[in-house]
Amino acid sequence: MYEYRCQTCGKQFEQLRRMSEADSGLVCPTCASVEIERLLSGFAAHGCGSGGGGRFR
Ligand SMILES: [Zn+2]
Repeated sequence: MYEYRCQTCGKQFEQLRRMSEADSGLVCPTCASVEIERLLSGFAAHGCGSGGGGRFR
């Protein structure tokens, strides 16, 4: 699952893409623009920064 943002209308949306076709053939679901920017927050969204070492428990 990747997160994208339309550079034309600013709409953010998610798309399930393969790695090899991650950026190809994308169009905005709102305005059908092809000016799409991929965001990098997809795989880091679930961690809350609590995964440090156990040394300071
Ligand atoms: Zn758009």
